[in-house]
Amino acid sequence: MPEGHTIHRLAEDHRELFAGRPVRASSPQGKFSDSAALIDGRELTSAEAHGKHLFLGFGATGWVHIHLGLFGKLGFGDAPAPPPTATVRLRLANPRAYADLRGPTTCALITDGEKAAIHERLGPDPLRAADDGEGAWERISRSRTSVAALLMDQKVIAGVGNVYRAEVLFRHGIDPYRAGRDLTRSEWDAIWSDLVTLMREGVRANRIDTVRPDHLPEAMGRPPRVDDHGGEVYVYRRAAQPCHICGTEIRTADLAARNLFWCPECQRR
Ligand SMILES: [Zn+2]
Repeated sequence: MPEGHTIHRLAEDHRELFAGRPVRASSPQGKFSDSAALIDGRELTSAEAHGKHLFLGFGATGWVHIHLGLFGKLGFGDAPAPPPTATVRLRLANPRAYADLRGPTTCALITDGEKAAIHERLGPDPLRAADDGEGAWERISRSRTSVAALLMDQKVIAGVGNVYRAEVLFRHGIDPYRAGRDLTRSEWDAIWSDLVTLMREGVRANRIDTVRPDHLPEAMGRPPRVDDHGGEVYVYRRAAQPCHICGTEIRTADLAARNLFWCPECQRR
């Protein structure tokens, strides 16, 4: 599942390619035809993300709410757009570019009120400029649940997925099984501000890099990581490989329905 930086990047791409001009909208697959007809020919007025939710604004017509889920894909291309395949739920196109949405969990035309209700259900997002970690801390500091599970709970904090949770806990030396309420305020503040920095860099580079300069392949004289996720990481998908810092084998276990990765030596706190 894409993490929040990918969705914010998609919002940016929509703004850059489509905002301020009328777009043609269609649903070659047919499942979104009625709503596509309502936005067809309208101007894209805004595009924003909150966690893993993407919102495309069409003025008074409302918002297209998209959640990619596990299998959804959004692909862009230059105009002229080729004939769409029957799997395209929504195609947006203008004389410059097109965007094809396939296989999302959610693609719905919603009102301002419905959009507000979605924001209400989600925790603060490190990539939303107006958000801070306060709301997340209120929940975390009262919870017996492990910090690794809390970081994946979109009601607590929005946009963090499996890679960022594993990496940020490593970077702060925190045992992923520690209960939320045993985290100190200063530890939480450091985690939040690190997520803001790492995820902004993720939007910019369009991939996740979490390794400090001292631990990059060139600095350590080690081969670069080979993984379809790209980017240099400390623990994610590195089970049974040696920790870049202490050499201990990275461990993995199932937590909150996803594989967790951590270094039992570096993450003792
Ligand atoms: Zn280690």
